[in-house]
Amino acid sequence: MNAIRIELSTNKKQKPEVSELGFGKYYTDHMVILDYDASIGWHDARVVPYQPITLDPAAKVFHYGQTVFEGLKAYLTADGPIRLFRPRKNFERLNRSNERLSIPHLDEELALEALKLLILTDREWIPSAEGTSLYIRPFIIATEAALGVNPSTQYKFMIIMSPVGSYYAEGIHPVKIFVESEYVRAVKGGVGNAKTAGNYAAGLKAQENATKQGSSQVLWLDGVHRKYIEEVGSMNVFFNINGTIVTPALNGSILDGITRDSIIQLLKHWNIPVEERALSIDEIVEAHGNGSLVEAFGTGTAAVISPIGELLWLGHKLSINNGETGELSAKLYDNLTGIQKGTVEDPFGWIL
Ligand code: PMP
Repeated sequence: MNAIRIELSTNKKQKPEVSELGFGKYYTDHMVILDYDASIGWHDARVVPYQPITLDPAAKVFHYGQTVFEGLKAYLTADGPIRLFRPRKNFERLNRSNERLSIPHLDEELALEALKLLILTDREWIPSAEGTSLYIRPFIIATEAALGVNPSTQYKFMIIMSPVGSYYAEGIHPVKIFVESEYVRAVKGGVGNAKTAGNYAAGLKAQENATKQGSSQVLWLDGVHRKYIEEVGSMNVFFNINGTIVTPALNGSILDGITRDSIIQLLKHWNIPVEERALSIDEIVEAHGNGSLVEAFGTGTAAVISPIGELLWLGHKLSINNGETGELSAKLYDNLTGIQKGTVEDPFGWIL
């Protein structure tokens, strides 16, 4: 019943040079598609040549944003096997996003099987040079052509893949962050804890402003009290306050990051105190003032660890660790990327 059919491309694309990879610029030769129709459920799982898709202009995704997505990576070392990092966590999260966006549940094992088949089909596309990986983008769109505001009766689940270059071409380095006081990303009860397109569209304006101020990302505060820290750009965020690592608790408006979870598990494994709790910007300003703010960093699939060198808050510049990469940030980066690449032992069974 769950057989996945394969239609191979007869027109293979030229692969880019490693130096040209960047992020999300090139796509592999094949993609996965599954269709959903309310009368039959998810069906016709297939690996087909990468190609444009045709949709009716009235498809609900274009009008009401009923769509969810995921992001994960596969890694390859020169002569090793293909390594997928915690893919089941991504399909579990996809279903949590589905639940919130009234999109039908997808069989996680079938999605994983389809992904593995796609990766094997396009295995020649996985780069192996230092820092490179294969970025995987599963997503679902509502395709029913009907303008009523209600859940679509038809969907497409797709997986596309892009070979990506090293996020840190010149080595891991800290970034400047603009603490956003006007716009908010999400509110509790909304869709902030789902991975859905609208959250990203809603963040663009603040990101543009931050760029104009010379910062690379926005630090989001909560939408109700406008003081509790939520996320940084599209990453989760951690602060080292006097040796205790603090990250905002998953309160309903924060995305449950898989890197975040991995970092928490690594810290616990190393017996480093870690707290998931409400954390206000005032507490960070105070910790900065009394010298107890040791390090700060964002976490996510793309960068893994992104150290924060400076916070710009109401016109004040708060330099963290003299704008340099902290010791713990570097250790976490080395260990997590090592587990992903296979140069560090994986005590958690994260690699598939
Ligand atoms: N928050 C947001 C809003 C994100 O888009 C992402 C990237 N998926 C993250 C956090 C980090 O999640 P992960 O570690 O699973 O990539």
